Amino acid sequence: MTKLIFEKSQKGMTAISITNEKLDTNYIDEKFLRKNEPVLPEVTELEAMRHFKELSDKNFCVESGFYPLGSCTMKYNPKVNEYLASLEGFTNLHPLQDDEDAQGALELMYKLQEALKEVTGMDAMTLQGSAGAHGELCGMMIVKHYFKVNNDLKRTKVIIPDSAHGTNPASAGMCGFEIVKVQSNEKGQVDVEDLKTIFENNKGEIAAIMMTNPNTLGLFEENISEIAKLAHEEGALLYYDGANLNAIMGITTPKVMGFDIVHLNLHKTFSTPHGGGGPGAGPVGVVEKLKDFLPIPVIDFDGQKYFRKYNVKNTIGKIKEFQGNFGVLVKAYAYILMRGNTLKEASMDAVLNANYMKEKLKKYYELPYDYTCMHEFVLSGDKQKSKGVHTLEIAKRLMDFKYHPPTVYFPLIVSEAMMIEPTESETKQRLDEFIDIMIKIAKEVEESPENVLSAPHCAPVKRVDETNAARHLDLRYKEEN
Ligand SMILES: *Cc1c(COP(=O)(O)O)cnc(C)c1O
Repeated sequence: MTKLIFEKSQKGMTAISITNEKLDTNYIDEKFLRKNEPVLPEVTELEAMRHFKELSDKNFCVESGFYPLGSCTMKYNPKVNEYLASLEGFTNLHPLQDDEDAQGALELMYKLQEALKEVTGMDAMTLQGSAGAHGELCGMMIVKHYFKVNNDLKRTKVIIPDSAHGTNPASAGMCGFEIVKVQSNEKGQVDVEDLKTIFENNKGEIAAIMMTNPNTLGLFEENISEIAKLAHEEGALLYYDGANLNAIMGITTPKVMGFDIVHLNLHKTFSTPHGGGGPGAGPVGVVEKLKDFLPIPVIDFDGQKYFRKYNVKNTIGKIKEFQGNFGVLVKAYAYILMRGNTLKEASMDAVLNANYMKEKLKKYYELPYDYTCMHEFVLSGDKQKSKGVHTLEIAKRLMDFKYHPPTVYFPLIVSEAMMIEPTESETKQRLDEFIDIMIKIAKEVEESPENVLSAPHCAPVKRVDETNAARHLDLRYKEEN
C-alpha cells in the first residue's frame, strides 16, 4: 500500500535549504498571518521524487496500454506535438501581447480554424471552448441569442435523442432550454415518426435539435437529411455534437448532413491528451448566418496581418479568458499538418478496427444493434448478467489483464452496456489480444464466475464508492493528534 507523503515525513529532512532569515512581515495585515507553522511533509529530494514516481506508476494512460473507452477516443498522442507545444516562442508568449507581436500564434490559430472549417464544412470557427461540454454551452448560447435577435422568443425547447451524451441535455438546460426527448427506433437511430410528432405538438417552440452522428451507439443516422429538412422547415437549428468525429473526417461533413452548429473535441479526434481534468479544447463551428454570433475575440486575417476582432455584431460575448487553451491548439494543429491528406485514413482505420472487433466479439457478448458500425460499437452484458456477473465486474476483470475497461453503462438505452472504441492507432495484434482477453472473461463467467466477481485482483483499491468519491471528494490531509 502506498503511504501518503505525510506518512513518509521525518522531522528535519529537507530537499532544499532556504535561508533562515526571518521574512519581513510588517507590511502584511495581522489577520492574514498564520498563527501556527504549516503542516508540511519533510522528505529528501530523492524520497520526494520516488513518491511521485510511485504515484504516477499507478496511473493508467494510453502510453501504458490499450484504452478502448467508447465515445472518448483515446488515440495515440504523438510526442512531437508535446515538443512543438513546448517551444519557447509559444510558451513565453503573453496573451495580452499586441497582435503585431503575436503574429505566429495568431497565424497558427487562424490556420487551425481554416483546417477545422474544412473538416466540418462550417463557414466560421472559434477555438475558445475548453472542453466538449463548454463548446456545447457556447453553441447553445448562440442558438438562444440567434432567436432573441430574430425576436422569435417562443422557441424555448431543444430536442435531444435518448441515446445522447449526458452533456447535451445539461448544456441546453444551462441555457434555460426545456429538453424534449426523442426516441430511438429499433435500428438504434432517431425515430423520425416520433420526431415529427414532437414538432407537431410544439409548433414554433423548438429552438434546436442536438444530434450526434454517428450516434453514441456508433451507428450512422441514415435519415439525417430528412431530419435536417424537417428541422429547418420548422424553423429550428441543427446542432452537431462532434466530440467524437473519428469516423467521418475527410469522408463527409456535418455541413453536408445539414447541421448549422458543431463542436469538436480536439482532445479526442485531434489527438491531444485528455482525462485527469487536464486542459482540452472544444472549438465551435457555425454556418454563415451564425457567423456574427461567435464569441469574441474572433481570430481573423486581412490578407496581411492576423488579428483579434472584438467588434462582432451579435456576439454572445466572451466564454473563456483570452483565446482558449493555446497549447492544446498547437498540438491539434501539428496533428492535422502531420496527417495532411491522410486524416481520412485515420477515420477509415478507426471504422475498420471497430467493425473487426465487433464481429469477433458478438459471438460471446450480445450485440443489441447488429449493424455495420462506425468508430465504436456497444455490446450488452445481458447474457453474462443472467449468470450473475454484471458489466461492472467484467470491466474490473479487464484491469487484471492490464487493459483499461471500455465505457460502461452508457448509452443508457442499452442494458449492461459496454461501449468499445479501438481507434485507428492500435495494431491488429493489439486488437487480437484484447479480443482474446474478452473471450477469456466470457468463458470465466461460464466456468469460474468467482474469478470475475472478485476482480480486480491486482489493483491497490478494489471497488470504490464512485458516487461518494465524486460527491464528497476528500483530498486534504488532516494531521492526527
Ligand atoms: C466526450 C463527449 C462530450 C463531452 O466532452 P468533454 O470534453 O468531456 O466535455 C460530449 N459528447 C460526446 C458524444 C462525447 O463523447
